Amino acid sequence: MKIAYHPCYAHTLPAGHRFPMEKYELIPQQLLHEGLVNQDDFFAPAPVSMDDVLRVHSSDYVQKLLQLQLTPREQRVIGFPQSEALVEREWVITQGTISCTQFALQQGVAMNVAGGTHHAFTDRGEGFCLLNDIAVAAAALLHQYPNWKILVVDLDVHQGNGTAEIFAGSQQVFTFSMHGRHNYPFKKEQSFLDVPLEDGTTTAQYLQLLETYLPRLIADIRPNFIYYLSGVDILDTDKFGKLKVSLQGCWERDKYVFTTCKQHNIPVAVSMGGGYSPSVATIVNAHINTFKAALNTWF
Ligand SMILES: [Zn+2]
Repeated sequence: MKIAYHPCYAHTLPAGHRFPMEKYELIPQQLLHEGLVNQDDFFAPAPVSMDDVLRVHSSDYVQKLLQLQLTPREQRVIGFPQSEALVEREWVITQGTISCTQFALQQGVAMNVAGGTHHAFTDRGEGFCLLNDIAVAAAALLHQYPNWKILVVDLDVHQGNGTAEIFAGSQQVFTFSMHGRHNYPFKKEQSFLDVPLEDGTTTAQYLQLLETYLPRLIADIRPNFIYYLSGVDILDTDKFGKLKVSLQGCWERDKYVFTTCKQHNIPVAVSMGGGYSPSVATIVNAHINTFKAALNTWF
């Protein structure tokens, strides 16, 4: 299975920063350590082209990012201090999702060890997101196959508000977001389908909703391609999640999504999304489970 990873994914943030950056370095190590994949499965993306970025993001916003001209307020909303290195990181991650798309077309599935930057809007970023990797990749895929339909399955606990805004009203890219009703972002956008979850939603309730809506969406839309945002902040251990989904339940979620895609012969590119359990080992294990579920399903 092809996996996008570049050392810049694990960029060092200022001491005490609340974003858990270590996982990006630990996940590839753990995948190799457990013998799940080989070094050859990894590829290091180059930065995304301007043509690809500008299919989604406004040129004013992109120039502001590249020239490090975000205001202090804009940086606070994003949550990262602006720097050339962080901009470079986001450009590389975004290309990772574009390249995963091409590998998924050949092999059924491919995974980016980052991305899922679904809080990036057309003309602004927030919530640790500068560019919307899935949106840029979906737009590039439509450029390649103008008549295709694409489904974004966003199961991160936070609503995919940026992706919803970018594809609002689109007849080709459909956004499905299952997220905590009372979680960030507090002002939600309208996805093609939103399934807001109450605080304390259990594994059984969660899986039942997913198993109700995903097949229905696939039957209605008949997508040629799926982007899956596999955030592990749905876990009961998560600091921000507010849900009660077990580690096993999170694995079952991933397995269900992949099995459904495979059954319908729909290629899927996976972006990892968030995860804020206090123990980094829990975060890494949950993400590793997503890789295992994909490997089990296709290879
Ligand atoms: Zn999240």
